[in-house]
Amino acid sequence: MAVRFPFTQWISPRQPPEVERLLKSAATREEVLSLAGGLPGEDLFPRVALAEALEEVMREHGREALQYQWPEGYGPLREQVAAMLRDRGVDVAQDELPITSGAQQALDLLARLLLRPGDALGIESPTYVAAIEVFGLQRPRMVPLARGEDGLDLEAVRALMRGAEKSLLYLAPAGHNPSGSSLSAGACESLVELSRAHDALIIEDDAYGRIQFEEPRRPLRSYAGAEERVILVGTFSKALTPGLRVGWIVAPPVVTAQLVLLKGIADLQTNTLGQMALSSYLERHDLDAHVARCLPRYRERRDAMLQSLAEHMPAEVRWTRPTCGFSVWVMLPEALAADALLARAIEAGVAFEPGAAFFPVDAPHNYLRLSFSNQTPDRITEAVARLGKALRAV
Ligand code: PMP
Repeated sequence: MAVRFPFTQWISPRQPPEVERLLKSAATREEVLSLAGGLPGEDLFPRVALAEALEEVMREHGREALQYQWPEGYGPLREQVAAMLRDRGVDVAQDELPITSGAQQALDLLARLLLRPGDALGIESPTYVAAIEVFGLQRPRMVPLARGEDGLDLEAVRALMRGAEKSLLYLAPAGHNPSGSSLSAGACESLVELSRAHDALIIEDDAYGRIQFEEPRRPLRSYAGAEERVILVGTFSKALTPGLRVGWIVAPPVVTAQLVLLKGIADLQTNTLGQMALSSYLERHDLDAHVARCLPRYRERRDAMLQSLAEHMPAEVRWTRPTCGFSVWVMLPEALAADALLARAIEAGVAFEPGAAFFPVDAPHNYLRLSFSNQTPDRITEAVARLGKALRAV
C-alpha cells in the first residue's frame, strides 16, 4: 500500500541511484577489490582483548552492564577518555564529557542544538559526506570553505565570521577526510583567534586525530583560548573499533548540559555493555600502544597506494599524499566524470568512492576517493593497476 503521509524530510541517497546500484553490486562480488568506504583495517582490531573485556564485564558486572544508565555515559569510561584527551593537551574534566553513540551521533546532536533553517554553516569543501548529510537535515545555508592538502582558506573563514553576527563552523583541523591532511599550528592559532574575535563557534571533528603518519597532532581544542569557542567531537572508531559505537563531545558547560538533555531524548543513552567493555579494555591495555602498532600497517598501505598510483595513473591525474587518515583523494582531468569511470572500474575489478558527495555545494564531477585502510598492500597494488587500466580505456 502506498504511504499516505508526506515526509517532513525527503532524504536523498548520497550518490546518484546508478552509482548506488553499482557500489552495492560491487560489494557482493568477491572478484572486485574495494577501495570504497573508509573502513578501519579489520585485521587490526584487538579481537582477543575485546572478547576478554566483554567476558569480564558480563561475569563480574553483568547486572550493571545489562541495565539502563544515565544519558551522559559510564563514569569510569568518561574519566578514561578525559585522561586520554589531557595527554593530547585538552584540559577537560570527566563531567564535561558526555559519551555519544559514535562521533556521528555527536554531530547529529550538535546540529539539532545549534542550527536552525537558514543559519549560516561554514563547512570545509570537500568534507566528510555524512557530516554534510546530518547538518543538511537542519537546512542551513552551507558556506563552503576550500580545504585541501595545503590547508584551509582562512580568508573565507574570516569573511564568513565578519559577515555574521554569530557563525558556526564544522572543521576537521587535525585529520581531514578526504584530503588526508592536518592544519599547521599557525592555522590553528589563527582559527582560535578569529573565533574569539567574532564570537564564532567551531565544531572540531577529531575522528582521525590519532591516525597520523608523520607527527602526532594536538586537537584545535587544545590551543590557548579555545575552551569557549571550540567543541571537540571524538570517537574510538578509527583508533580501535567502530563496532561498539562509542564517541564523545567536549563542549563549554552550557552546551554540555543541553547536549545531555538532548542525548537522553534522542536515545536515552549509549549502550552500557559496549561502554563498560571499552572501559575494561582501557584499564588493561594501552590504547597508545595499540595505535602505535596500527600506524605502521596503515603507513605501509598508504605507501603501496602512492607507489602504484605513480606507476599506473595517466600523467594528467593528480592525487594527495595523505599524512593522516585512511584514504587518498584523486583529481581526474576535467573532461572525465568519476561516476562514468566507476562502471568501467568495476568491470575491471575495482571499486572506489566517486567524490561529488564530499562537496557541500557546487560539486565537481572529476574527483574520487581511494581508501587503503582495509586492504593488504598486495591487493592495493593490484586494485590501483586495475583502476589505471580502466582509466586508459575511457
Ligand atoms: N567524522 C569523520 C571525519 C568520519 O570519517 C567518521 C566515520 N566515517 C565519523 C565522523 C563518524 O564516526 P563514528 O560515528 O563511527 O564515530
